[in-house]
Formats: sequence, structure tokens, C-alpha cells
Amino acid sequence: MTAPSELKRQLAGVRGLLLDLDGVLVLRGKLIPGAAEALAALDAARFPYRLATNYSLFSRASLSGQFAKAGVVIPPEWIVSAASAAAAHARRHFGSEPIYVMTSEDARVEFDGLTLMSHDEAAEPGARAAAVIVGDAGEEFTSRTIQSAFRLLRGGARFVAMHKNRWWITPAGVALDSGAYVAALEFGAQRRAFVTGKPSRAFFGEGVRQLGLSAADVAMVGDDLWNDILGAQKAGLRGVFVRSGKHGDADLARLASARGGRAPDAIAPSIVEIVGALV
Ligand SMILES: [Mg+2]
Repeated sequence: MTAPSELKRQLAGVRGLLLDLDGVLVLRGKLIPGAAEALAALDAARFPYRLATNYSLFSRASLSGQFAKAGVVIPPEWIVSAASAAAAHARRHFGSEPIYVMTSEDARVEFDGLTLMSHDEAAEPGARAAAVIVGDAGEEFTSRTIQSAFRLLRGGARFVAMHKNRWWITPAGVALDSGAYVAALEFGAQRRAFVTGKPSRAFFGEGVRQLGLSAADVAMVGDDLWNDILGAQKAGLRGVFVRSGKHGDADLARLASARGGRAPDAIAPSIVEIVGALV
């Protein structure tokens, strides 16, 4: 257990935060106790923060709306999601060329203005796409859509993944995440996907840029030791681990013994203690 003064010392010099969503602010679809008050304390102290999440089942506008219903004001433009990062990547690289985006209906709005193929178009024999982008497609991951994605990749489409999260905690229990589908396609197509969300360096870079700070002054707060903590550290940020989400002592031990593993820069029970040490 880290003493409050120890946490304060570990967080000295942190001038901005990137906050993971699932496991840090929300768990099983509900706000984590004290998270709303912690965000209010950051707002009151004008301490800069942004949400940096791989959660891509919803658009940033919908996420912002859901927070508003829970009484927490987070403007959509304060959210960097794996879906918004994938859309920005697609705008830069694929322009008006057809792309096959496997994502939820709601997150699809992030891709407004781009040429998205329907599932039927993607399934047509001889179909071609500039890119296949795999996100949190939920029920739209079917053998038909996966086969379409595979054929498009075989036909030369670029391969982009919003993230490669293995699993997550839903209101109904643990669930296989879209990273497993990405891995299946990588295995079949014998190619690696380009990841736009965490732990990609570009993703953390975008969050830091939005804060107007340098990476060394920013701490990423997350519950995933690899995607959040190690990823942020590799991008030059500090990685602050919270125990309020999916990883715990067994994962900390696994990380410590892994090649290239590195301890988090700080460990706290939840966002509440971190904000308490900062403002
Ligand atoms: Mg998380």
C-alpha cells in the first residue's frame, strides 16, 4: 500500500493526465466510486486532463453524452479514442478510397465523410478495399464479416486495428475483446496490423499534443499494465497503475518477470488517490 506522501513524491512534476476510461473512471458500465468527484476536483483546480481510451464501441459524442447523463461533463473533443485515432489515420492515408471498417454502428460516425463499404459490398467476389480497419464490432463479428475482411486483406488492403485488447470486463462478465479477432486475421493473412490505439506511440502523442504539454510532464493513468502503463512509458510519459480495474498482483508479477517489463511509476488503489495527490 502506497502512503499518500509517497504517491505525492512519485507524481511530483506531473502537469497533465491522460485517463483511461474502463477500469479507471468506469467499471461494468458504472462510474467507479469517487471518479466523478475526482474529475470535478481536477476541473476546479484547472488541472489539464484528457480521456485516452481504446474503448471504441461508442463515438466520442456518445461517450460524452453518457457521462453527461451521469452528471460528469467531458466534452467530446477531450476524448481521444482508438476509433477517433483510426478515423484520423484513415483520413490521412486513404482519402476517398473505399475502406472496410468493422466497428459498431455508433462508432461509425467517427468515419463520417470517408467511403465506407457495407458488409454486402465487402462480401462481393472480387471486392477491393484500400484498408480493413478492425474495431469493436461486437455482434458484427460474424464468420461472414471476418471472411470478407480476410479476403480484402489477401487482395492487398492495408491492415489497421483500433487496438489489440485481449479481453475486458462487461456488465455480463469477462468478454473476448476485438484484439482476438485481429490476431485471427493476422494469423490467416500472415501480416501484422497497424494499431492506432494504445499502446501505439502515436496515440499517446496525440493525447499529449492535445494537452499542450511535453510527454515527460504527463502521466497516463490506466488499469492495463501493458497497453496503458508500458505503452505510455515507451512513449516517454509516466505510467500510473490503478487497481480499480482488470489487472492486479498476478499481472504485476507477470510484467516484472517479462522481457522488457518495467514497474509502473506509481501504483494507487484508484483515480481518487491520484487526484488527491495532485490537486
Ligand atoms: Mg482500461
